Amino acid sequence: MNDVQPRRSPITPTVDFSAKGIQHGFLRLPHSRDDSAWGSVMIPITVIKNGEGPTALLTGGNHGDEYEGPIALFDLARTVRTADVSGRIIIVPAMNYPAFLAGTRTSPIDKGNLNRSFPGRADGTVTQKIADYFQRELLPLADIALDFHSGGKTLDFLPFCAAHVLSDKAQEARSFDLVEAFSAPYSMKMLEIDSIGMYDTAAEEMGKVFITTELGGGGTATAKSTGIAKRGTRNVLVKAGILNGVADVAQTQWLDMPDGDCFCFAEEAGLIEPLFDLGDVVKRGQAVARIHPVGRAGQAPAEISARMNGVLCARHFPGLVKAGDCVAVFAVTV
Ligand code: ZN
Repeated sequence: MNDVQPRRSPITPTVDFSAKGIQHGFLRLPHSRDDSAWGSVMIPITVIKNGEGPTALLTGGNHGDEYEGPIALFDLARTVRTADVSGRIIIVPAMNYPAFLAGTRTSPIDKGNLNRSFPGRADGTVTQKIADYFQRELLPLADIALDFHSGGKTLDFLPFCAAHVLSDKAQEARSFDLVEAFSAPYSMKMLEIDSIGMYDTAAEEMGKVFITTELGGGGTATAKSTGIAKRGTRNVLVKAGILNGVADVAQTQWLDMPDGDCFCFAEEAGLIEPLFDLGDVVKRGQAVARIHPVGRAGQAPAEISARMNGVLCARHFPGLVKAGDCVAVFAVTV
């Protein structure tokens, strides 16, 4: 029989999204495997609902080795007071929970990169099923969505909150307003290398006000970067009128990634020697890193040159690079 209706998600929430008060529960995703025949992936979720107001969907751990989001969101879930909320906050601190538990960007179950898996599939892999649940169940509940990222094990970023340039200028303006409210040290008009399959794109195509971050990297978090994440989360909720309180606003420097020239990719493998650090200003044509061949001594390094004038806002983190690695990203100050 041909099933023309979309199959129902196999994920069962243990929380009631329409109930008043605070609930800590799970998105339970059946996952039959060697060590648990009728087992499940249990993705933690918190829902806080009180009075009238918009819904914010807050997510971290879309990539499993990025930590500012999970830290800020587990903290918010534990400390938020229902009486301070007008509307609803849905918190999923670690979206790709199997990847988060493994400390890896992608899922150890199916190698799925959640942020390249949208819109997902209800009858797909574990990662595709998570994407499908956000696409069809959680995003439709939201007015605004904040999805935390950092560089993970292989990139490091200047700390910024970001939104994308959109064809709907009203939606774009509302998104940039929330970026400004987040109050990270930097605010980015962000360009993606390839936006297909991203959660960002799914939310934006649904007309949601969507903001994201890159708050550091290297597969860890710092006191400074977690402070930015916690403060930014509360600032966004206050700005949206969902959380009582006064925003803790700080100065932010706006940056723009105007076109593909902002990305520099390695064309050979080797040992990378940075010639500039994050936040440094470079000129077009200037060498920003050297890649030393490691097969034998006495070989000249290849040079990576900036393709635009700008601020170094991201860099490859590990000391060894492979051909095709993104080694540097530049942006211009606005
Ligand atoms: Zn990420």
